[in-house]
Amino acid sequence: MIYDAIIVGGGPAGLNAAVVLGRCKRKILVFDSGKYRNSYSSGLHNYLSRDGILPKDFLELAREEVTALGISILPQLVTTATKTADDHFTVHVDHAISYTAKILLLATGVKDRLPEVPGIEEYYGISVHHCPYCDGWEERDKKMVLYSKHINGFGMAVSLKTWSADVTLLTDGKMYLSGKQRSTLAHYNINVIQKPVASVQGTSGRLQSVSFSDGQILECDTLFFTDNYEQHCGLVTDLQCSLNSKGVVRTNNVQQTNIEGLYVAGDASKDMHLVVVAAAQGAKAGIAINKSLQLRERPLFPV
Ligand SMILES: Cc1cc2nc3c(=O)[nH]c(=O)nc-3n(C[C@H](O)[C@H](O)[C@H](O)COP(=O)(O)OP(=O)(O)OC[C@H]3O[C@@H](n4cnc5c(N)ncnc54)[C@H](O)[C@@H]3O)c2cc1C
Repeated sequence: MIYDAIIVGGGPAGLNAAVVLGRCKRKILVFDSGKYRNSYSSGLHNYLSRDGILPKDFLELAREEVTALGISILPQLVTTATKTADDHFTVHVDHAISYTAKILLLATGVKDRLPEVPGIEEYYGISVHHCPYCDGWEERDKKMVLYSKHINGFGMAVSLKTWSADVTLLTDGKMYLSGKQRSTLAHYNINVIQKPVASVQGTSGRLQSVSFSDGQILECDTLFFTDNYEQHCGLVTDLQCSLNSKGVVRTNNVQQTNIEGLYVAGDASKDMHLVVVAAAQGAKAGIAINKSLQLRERPLFPV
């Protein structure tokens, strides 16, 4: 059997595409390995009508809508994907089982690299965050630290002043700030600590302090870190998608990649990393995929 489309990834991007395509009566299959990006989050924000919902509950509601349309969501990891000589796409879930479709949508997301600070996982999603648009409101006016070792944290440190007057930039031993940046940070009352970070302390997921290698302790309530992520899986590179300098896939405005018939939506593609944006990209990809199938089925000849 050849499906109209296969969707790899059952997060907001993949599931919204599935809803659109299901409502177009398309034969589709969704694969999802279940390791969605915001699984650590203690509440989803910036999505109208769902503020504070747990990501697992949000996804459960979304899956119910998809399966009500008769679409199967297979809880399996897609290990390889190839474009065939007849311009179809074949995906493999293990060495023996493969599925083929006319169109492939990758909505596989990205995964975050947490700062390499002992014990930090305990606080992730509760008082340690990467996105102030997602969690800055809940942490507003608290003592904030920004951990930024591998990326110059200058811009984000200034940005965090929108949410709190008390911001300290930690570079964990790196000396990347220019003289101009240091004086600008001082001008905005942003403290900078360049000493190596040793550990973090707190209780029940709430951070209380950061310790440095020389024994100094800095009290704080919340820690943000600069975006440090990579593609969730290797399918986009296996299929030779064009990536930008941040490692996400370049697409046109309806999520079509440089490869005919291959679409990428959500965090794996360029744009802002928010649930509502991922879902919107999935919806756009769904409509574009249906239109492309319509053109193959009933080509419009000049009249
Ligand atoms: C801690 C945290 C908090 C956040 N808070 C917010 C918030 O409050 N508001 C907000 O708007 N955004 C928030 N975000 C961002 C949000 O999580 C992402 O923008 C959103 O999840 C992107 O959706 P997606 O569908 O592109 O990817 P994901 O949600 O990551 O879903 C991708 C899915 O694809 C699956 N997958 C990957 N590879 C394969 C494969 N080879 N085979 C099968 N399945 C595969 C994964 O297992 C996963 O289930 C937060 C992120 C983090 C890390």
